[in-house]
Amino acid sequence: MILVFLGPPGAGKGTQAKKLSEDMGFVHISTGDILREAVRKGTPLGKRAKEFIEKGELVPDDIMVALIEEVLPEEKSVVLDGFPRTVPQAEALERMLSKKGRKVDKVFLFELPDEEVVMRLSGRRTCPECGALYHIKFNPPKEDEICDNCGAKLLQREDDKEEVVKNRLKVYKEKTAPLVDHYRAKGILITLDASGSVEEVYENLKRILNEEGN
Ligand code: ADP
Ligand code: AMP
Repeated sequence: MILVFLGPPGAGKGTQAKKLSEDMGFVHISTGDILREAVRKGTPLGKRAKEFIEKGELVPDDIMVALIEEVLPEEKSVVLDGFPRTVPQAEALERMLSKKGRKVDKVFLFELPDEEVVMRLSGRRTCPECGALYHIKFNPPKEDEICDNCGAKLLQREDDKEEVVKNRLKVYKEKTAPLVDHYRAKGILITLDASGSVEEVYENLKRILNEEGN
C-alpha cells in the first residue's frame, strides 16, 4: 500500500507518518528529512538543495524525482510525507510506480487553518540526532529543549522562522495545492481534519484506513 500525505507545512504530516510507521510498519519517507540530513552532511544533494530550503522554495523537480526513485522500496507499504509537491512530481511518481506494477492507493489531505499552521510551525522543535518532533506548547519534551529519546539539544528549524514560513505557505498554495484536484480526479483523495490532538487525528486516520480496507 502506498499512501501520500498532502497538506500545508506544519499540518502534522510528519507526526502522523511517524506514528503509522511505528504502529503499523509503514516505511516513512520524508523528503524534507532526507534533504535536511544531506544538507547537514554537506553531500552534493545537500549543497544543491540548501539555498532552496533556506528560502522556503521548492527544490527542483528533477532533483526530487531522482531522489525518490533512489529511496522508494520495492514492495513494502510506504507513507510518502512531503512528496509529491508539484503536479510534475506526481506524474513522475505515477510513471515510476507503474513500471513496478504499483500505484498510489490513497492520498490524505491534512486540513488545518492558516493560523493554526503558523502556531504549530512557530513552536516546532526537532531533535537533530534522532529526528523526534516536539512542540513547545502542544507536545513539549519532559525537560526544556532536551530530546526525551536521546538527550540531544532540540533545535528550531531555520525555515520555521516567520519570514520563511510565509513564503512556504505561499509556495504551498501555488505549487502543491493543485495536487488536491489532481488526486480528487483520480478518486483517491481523502480529507482529514488535522485540527484535533495528535491522538485524535491518528485515531481518525486509522479508522479511515481500516474502513477502506487496509
Ligand atoms: P508537517 O510534517 O506537516 O510539516 P509536523 O508533523 O512536523 O508537520 O508538525 C508540526 C508541529 O505541530 C510540530 O511541532 C508537532 O509537534 C505539532 N503537531 C503535530 N500534530 C499536532 C496536533 N494534532 N496538535 C498539536 N500540535 C501538533
Ligand atoms: P518539509 O520538511 O516537508 O517541510 O520540507 C522542507 C523543505 O524541503 C521544503 O520547504 C522544500 O524546500 C524541500 N522539499 C521537501 N520535499 C520537497 C519536494 N517534494 N519537492 C521540492 N522541495 C521539497
